[in-house]
Amino acid sequence: GGADVTCEMLVLGAGPGGYTAAFRAADLGMQTVLIERWSTLGGVCLNVGCIPSKALLHAAKVLDESEEVNEIGIDFKKPKVDIDKLRTWKEKIVSRLTGGLSGLAKQRKVQVVSGVGKFLDPNHVEVTAEDGKKTVVKFDKAVIAAGSEAVHLPFIPEDPRVIDSTGALELADVPKRMLVIGGGIIGLEMATVYSALGSKITVVEMLPNLVAGADKDIVKPYTNRIKKKYEAILMETRVTAVEATKSGMKVTFEGKQAPEKPQVYDRVLVAVGRTPNGKLIGAENAGVAVDKSGFVQVVDSQMRTTQPHIFAIGDIIGQPMLAHKAVHEGKTAAEAASGLPSHFDARVIPSVAYTDPEIAWVGVTEEEAKAQGLKYGKGVFPWAASGRALSMGREEGMTKLIFDEKNERVIGAGIVGINAGELIAEVAHAIEMGSNAADIGLTVHPHPTLSETVAMAAEMFEGTITDLY
Ligand code: FAD
Repeated sequence: GGADVTCEMLVLGAGPGGYTAAFRAADLGMQTVLIERWSTLGGVCLNVGCIPSKALLHAAKVLDESEEVNEIGIDFKKPKVDIDKLRTWKEKIVSRLTGGLSGLAKQRKVQVVSGVGKFLDPNHVEVTAEDGKKTVVKFDKAVIAAGSEAVHLPFIPEDPRVIDSTGALELADVPKRMLVIGGGIIGLEMATVYSALGSKITVVEMLPNLVAGADKDIVKPYTNRIKKKYEAILMETRVTAVEATKSGMKVTFEGKQAPEKPQVYDRVLVAVGRTPNGKLIGAENAGVAVDKSGFVQVVDSQMRTTQPHIFAIGDIIGQPMLAHKAVHEGKTAAEAASGLPSHFDARVIPSVAYTDPEIAWVGVTEEEAKAQGLKYGKGVFPWAASGRALSMGREEGMTKLIFDEKNERVIGAGIVGINAGELIAEVAHAIEMGSNAADIGLTVHPHPTLSETVAMAAEMFEGTITDLY
């Protein structure tokens, strides 16, 4: 059949990976079409992920601090939250960013086609708009960036009181008692928000650790803090049944810390992971291999799928499902598609839980180093010895660097504390540059900052530290 639109580059999905790929391809002179089923660009991250969650976490931080400053002699009245105003503020931030993306697409003459895209064959995608209208787009090269969606638990009944992260970010109201199923980054960030807004929070996690990707000693200061704030944290415990009742969602638990009797919650947030959209895009018609879990297979460091002129990036190709990974892969794919010798060869991708305190890690964790039998050394700097942390009233943090014992190069880091997410970037850079402990320790860091804790941790490893504070 014929095509309604033809292009050199087709990008399927307008999340961080997709819009980056589309913009880069257009900048490199490719005539580019971007297909998106939602009414705004930006994907999960801008619409229902990174950005709205960070806006609400900012509000949470202000609320928590307004109470905590009591200790330093400042007394605010109990804050009143205007939930409608907060929601509107959050929505404004999102629409400013997604609107900005539309502008950038126009500037670059990237043609946005609205609707659900499906491959018909290796050179055609059919796009079905909301009104049912179909558009066939013929392409020379394509980038698949169709992302992921929240996993739903089949035994939990459909009910407005059961929500996923998208529902939680809508901020419909503040439930009195809320259960968060899943102690990963997304669940715990939402717990941080709703706890600050006044909900009584219970977290239930199957595994023995919260934020399972990070070292236990890095997570501990965070756990100590939320233990005081939350109603319950149920580790190595599973939800086995959820029943909708008039008074709330009645939840039955099983496992190590399971409450004996079923508990009733006003809201249940399911945050048990995300699943790729690979099975929903007609990949088989294009000769693009998708694995059992729905991940599109990528076969080289230029982000090619099993069909050499079709590339794939972001959440849909595998872990870690993070926006900054999608962005870098998107840039690589667009450059490779336009013939440049670009490769995705990042040594490390940092992870951050924007909880309070934040938890951030990059490269090998100490637990991984042990498990892999690596010969490693570490430098640990407790924030109780940081003048800046003390003067912010937040001394619970810790900075830990992991070094290769042979050449003293930094190979990993874990940081817990306020702004840990900002601090981890320095270590990511150090790892990419092959820096050793002396490189970091001898770099003059501004005083007094939390960034000094990175240099101090390196000096702790070197054994050259002379003074603290
Ligand atoms: P997505 O952002 O998932 O975008 C895919 C796009 O493709 C979507 O717009 C979708 O509508 C569209 N699409 C899918 N199928 C089709 C189709 N067939 N036709 C047309 N369009 C289609 N990551 C971070 O790095 N930092 C954070 O702080 C962070 N916070 C998060 C908070 C939450 C609550 C959630 C849910 C996620 C968070 N993430 C965070 C993860 C981050 O959002 C994702 O890693 C990132 O959005 C992945 O980008 P992507 O381009 O691969 O796909």
